[in-house]
Amino acid sequence: METETTSLTTTEGRPATAKQRSYLGDRIATRPKWATSVGLAPEGIATLSLTEASQLIDSAQSIAPERKQHPDAIPVHELKEGGYWTIDGDVVRVRRSRRYDFYGQQFDPKTGRFEYRKGIVFRLKARMTPDEAKQWGAPFGRCCMCGKLLTDEKSMEQGIGPVCRRHL
Ligand SMILES: [Zn+2]
Repeated sequence: METETTSLTTTEGRPATAKQRSYLGDRIATRPKWATSVGLAPEGIATLSLTEASQLIDSAQSIAPERKQHPDAIPVHELKEGGYWTIDGDVVRVRRSRRYDFYGQQFDPKTGRFEYRKGIVFRLKARMTPDEAKQWGAPFGRCCMCGKLLTDEKSMEQGIGPVCRRHL
């Protein structure tokens, strides 16, 4: 008589190793938004197969810890290069370093420059739309992307220079 028990000895069904489970547990704790985005909960770790765990680990490896992440901020792994608003209403330019990490430069209206601000990428609330760039950059007469003083009348009206407009 045949039973319907499934074998756990096949390669496909092989469960995740203790090391994999431990690694993923740590990633859930330090990167909760990433865990939610891939549908991984602490109680789900025990039932992962080796292959699934391996794929999740690949996904987690490029994600920075979210410890400093403000609860209302966009998760860092969802950022793209460009202009953003902070939760405090400041303007930040997001760049990506050679090591693939994102960092932010905050605009200082007094100097007209974007200055690096440690941890500012954890406090970004929304991406700047072209319309918002116009509203923000026009009163300063500066480009909302690079901070340069604008000379062309049309650019001043739009708060962004012609080169940067293509990247917004
Ligand atoms: Zn510009």
